[in-house]
Amino acid sequence: KESLVTFLEKTNQSKRFLEKAEMIMPGGVTANIKYFAPYPIVLSKAQGAYVTDVDGNQYIDYLLSYGALMLGHGHSQIKEAVVRQLEEDGTNLFGTPHQLEVEMGETIQTLYPSMERLRYTNSGTEATLLALRIAAAYTGKRKIAKFEGHYHGGYDEVLVSVNPSLAKAGPEERPHAVLESKGMSQSHLETTIVLPFNDLESCEQILRDNHKDISAVIIEPLQAGFIPAKPIFIEGLRKLTEELDILLIFDEVKTGFRVSLGGAQELYHVEPDITTLGKVIGGGFPVGIVGGRKDIMMVSAPKGSADVFDHSQSKGSSASEVLFHSGTYNGHPTILAAGLATISVLKNEMNHVLNTTEELKSRLEWLFQKHHIPMKAIGVGSIFSVVLTEIEKIQNYRDLQLTNLRLRKEIDLHLLGEGIYMKPLNRYSLSTAHTELEVKSTVQAYEHILAKGLR
Ligand code: PLP
Repeated sequence: KESLVTFLEKTNQSKRFLEKAEMIMPGGVTANIKYFAPYPIVLSKAQGAYVTDVDGNQYIDYLLSYGALMLGHGHSQIKEAVVRQLEEDGTNLFGTPHQLEVEMGETIQTLYPSMERLRYTNSGTEATLLALRIAAAYTGKRKIAKFEGHYHGGYDEVLVSVNPSLAKAGPEERPHAVLESKGMSQSHLETTIVLPFNDLESCEQILRDNHKDISAVIIEPLQAGFIPAKPIFIEGLRKLTEELDILLIFDEVKTGFRVSLGGAQELYHVEPDITTLGKVIGGGFPVGIVGGRKDIMMVSAPKGSADVFDHSQSKGSSASEVLFHSGTYNGHPTILAAGLATISVLKNEMNHVLNTTEELKSRLEWLFQKHHIPMKAIGVGSIFSVVLTEIEKIQNYRDLQLTNLRLRKEIDLHLLGEGIYMKPLNRYSLSTAHTELEVKSTVQAYEHILAKGLR
């Protein structure tokens, strides 16, 4: 295939590097998601909206480290904030409460009023893990419910039915739980209940049947950042969970600061009980935040020395009587400095990102129509995906599986050849560094590819 030949010709050094990396890391990668066939491109430099690979090819970056880099690469205000922090206090890793934790917390609470109390973690994965433990501790119930096709991190409890084959996934209205990794305990087939996204009636039946055991429903309000919940669905889910004493967790690791400054909850005017954030708020560094209603979050508050996990000082009360949450790097000051700088820039430039994204989406759609190709650019805010389908509206995981993923992958390989960086089949994220110029080049690249008559 022509796309593959161009890719192979342009990326010889990446291929050689991968061969070396394979001698160090299984598959040559340190996260499975970083792999794609025939081999991932190895990037070596980046600035603003652009990345350069080890062969010297330059690309416009739409992966942006899976959406984390909302200000693009190497933003001067993030650099300055980090250097200032390092110069003043070293890493300032005191292992005590500190100023920036409160400053970031206040900033978050203003934009996400539902997060009345919050805790810091080191990743989005840790944030959802803690959110689910808090929900279990607060409700005294052990099972969770999650949606088919939704991702909340790589641990067992939520690594269920994220990307199941339709052959195994059971009926659409009552999906089967499918384990997504070797090495997982079969027990999660029982303890993680799978719900169909955007189908309130079916969710209601499943939740009513199981509500005595379910501590929380965890949801990506926009699946994978680009398939929005119908407003009536998310409002209905809010009412239903309240009635059934189930906590509602919005996983906004991807949507937070991307669909709007106040996340999906601001767009939908729906308040979850618990929210998780990550990605953008680290300014390119690893971070997560869990926050929610005060009475719920207070289950993690230590009340005395016997309540913290310190065996040397235990006075007889068992540590398991309180909710355990710890982490050497939680609330890392250097990272919070980068995150605060990011939010401060975004307060002025969010509209620019939203407008640029709209512009790119609408110009791509216009192009697809011109070429009579059943392709759409779907998404909200600064994230979207290109789907190839005749289906009028993509509403869930199963709709997405019915789109032409083979052709999409081929187009993505062509795009790499045209200097547009997108890991095949991923979604597009934009940043403050993307401008009219990048939009124009991207549309031109698409035009060039579509003119070849790919089908
Ligand atoms: N939740 C959602 C919605 C995500 O998109 C991700 C990562 O892609 C996570 C959780 C996990 O976050 P992290 O990769 O920081 O652990």
